[in-house]
Amino acid sequence: MSERLVATAAELRRRVDGWRSAGPGVGAGAVGTDPGAGGGAVGFVPTMGALHAGHLSLMRRARAECPRVVVSIFVNPRQFGPTEDFGRYPRTLEADLRLCAEAGVDAVFCPAPEEVYPPGFQTTVSVGPLTRRLCGLDRPDHFDGVTTVVARLFGLVRPTHAYFGQKDYQQASVIRRMVADLALEPEIVVCPIVREADGLAMSSRNRYLSADERQRALALCRGLERAQERFGAGERDAAAVTAALAEQLREAGAAVDYAAACDPVDLEPVARLESGTVLLVAARIGATRLLDNHILE
Ligand code: AMP
Repeated sequence: MSERLVATAAELRRRVDGWRSAGPGVGAGAVGTDPGAGGGAVGFVPTMGALHAGHLSLMRRARAECPRVVVSIFVNPRQFGPTEDFGRYPRTLEADLRLCAEAGVDAVFCPAPEEVYPPGFQTTVSVGPLTRRLCGLDRPDHFDGVTTVVARLFGLVRPTHAYFGQKDYQQASVIRRMVADLALEPEIVVCPIVREADGLAMSSRNRYLSADERQRALALCRGLERAQERFGAGERDAAAVTAALAEQLREAGAAVDYAAACDPVDLEPVARLESGTVLLVAARIGATRLLDNHILE
């Protein structure tokens, strides 16, 4: 097994303590290191594994900005509902470790559940209304699971910078809110959505799709492209655009959880589209729930 692999919180602490206390210059000279980021910076990319080019883009950004980079791989039971795919979520550790090595990651934290939730653990971190709309409507405890694990991982890793994908737009917004409200240390960096050549947003769950479903899943990104075109042509009515987006998804045989136009920070629905408004969709193609979003420009 790779020496990058760290299984316990104690070992992780030992390594991160060394990096953070070493001060300026640690890691200087590493390929892609931004000297402006300062020594002692630790970049952190939390993931659930089954890594793909979307995750890789976060690792590369962290690598470019921080002398040290930690990736965590933990399929967090608390963010899955009772009928969701926790049991069959893809687990591809060998390939994940290879990808982390290629990306120049310093440590890959792969904790057992008892490391993350030791006996006696009884805290839940819960962000307010922002977590109850959009995905929160269909997944009531999901964001509490996310914020609790991310807060705990921040405590274990003690990053100076943490990297999230725009792909999970609401998640990134909730994390930003939590970090601001609790005055947590890491600077939150949100990275652009990485897409397949045909536009489908990369996701660990895409591997659940049959060939036919994979084709139909393109309705998410195509719908968002069409919405951008209408906005470019002068359309400003949010209801008209989101109704058309939902219709386009239904025509592809998708079950639409939501198609919404929202304020980019608090995710309140907007009536009038403007540059910077975020369009968000969640739809099920067969048994697979997919997300996508686009910031109007
Ligand atoms: P996950 O392993 O699905 O929990 O994702 C870990 C991180 O990778 C999250 O911050 C995601 O938003 C991000 N991510 C997942 N897919 C993509 C993508 N296609 N492009 C950019 N970031 C992504």
